[in-house]
Amino acid sequence: MIVAMHEAANEDQIQHVIDQLVHLGFGVHRSTGALQTVLGGVGVPPDFDAREVEMLPGVQRVHRITSLYKLAGRSFRPEGTVVKFSNGVEIGGKKIVVMAGPCSVESREQLFTISELIARAGARILRGGAFKPRSSPYSFQGMGLEGLKLLREAGDRFNLLVISEVMEISQIEVMLPYVDILQVGARNMQNFNLLRELGKVRIPVLLKRGIAATIEELLCSAEYLLAGGNYELILCERGIRTFETHTRNTMDISAIPVIHKLSHLPMTADPSHGTGLRDKVAPMALASAAAGADAMLIEVHHQPDKALSDGAQSLYPDQFATLMDQLRMLAPAVGREIA
Ligand code: PEP
Ligand code: MN
Repeated sequence: MIVAMHEAANEDQIQHVIDQLVHLGFGVHRSTGALQTVLGGVGVPPDFDAREVEMLPGVQRVHRITSLYKLAGRSFRPEGTVVKFSNGVEIGGKKIVVMAGPCSVESREQLFTISELIARAGARILRGGAFKPRSSPYSFQGMGLEGLKLLREAGDRFNLLVISEVMEISQIEVMLPYVDILQVGARNMQNFNLLRELGKVRIPVLLKRGIAATIEELLCSAEYLLAGGNYELILCERGIRTFETHTRNTMDISAIPVIHKLSHLPMTADPSHGTGLRDKVAPMALASAAAGADAMLIEVHHQPDKALSDGAQSLYPDQFATLMDQLRMLAPAVGREIA
């Protein structure tokens, strides 16, 4: 940590800051320049709050160098994390894995129709919400356990792994027999009690970036799972809220290379929630693949005008098949393949 003192800071103030840093557990290195004094603090205590030093008299700026997360950091596993599944699918390796399916499981007929089409187009993982986080309590809330059973059945029938969202701790046990990946939605990225419980399970988790979360906050949330011992973790960029109104969210594609540099965890791109508009999904999916995404999460519906949630951002099955063809063409240009 670097503490820059004001030019006008006097010797008493500088000494007071040094004493405080030593008291907090830092080793302190002092550098006195012609204009100002700079203090280097070595050995940051894990729960250190930089504001404690920023508020001391005579301090101009505090700059923290070490990150708040350790296990999620790239240096913990420089070679990168690869999440492996029993059927040979790997997320975080050379191949980009495509997860697709409806926003919500709505009926057997709906799910089986969509599952067959996405499997034929080359998806490896079936997505579908059984427990739905909806902005309005009057919107469709999901089929619950019945939806989970349908997901497993459709997954087994069409040789697809299954991912579905877990909204609360009590649903974890209920979901384990039916899913291969537990999805933590944007609204729960900082539900720390849920994250702690998911640190105890031994099944992969896909953690979505919160609607207004910084990358550092996402990595701190990831740290909860890793600290609990669950290393089967995949992160997901799904768009963040900005001042722009032409899209539902702003798909932050730069988060993909940024996180790849900061962390060893694989990155998924969700251009469906990232844009909220069907015609924007394919361009953002292709851009995400070019930016280094390890997986894609794409909403697909055979009758999007009748969908009970997120129809406007769901691709028609033939659009999804076209996107898969384009991804197969693009991937080699960036050293990847499609799983
Ligand atoms: C979803 O995947 O359908 C979903 C609700 O996503 P998010 O949490 O990103 O809004
Ligand atoms: Mn959705």
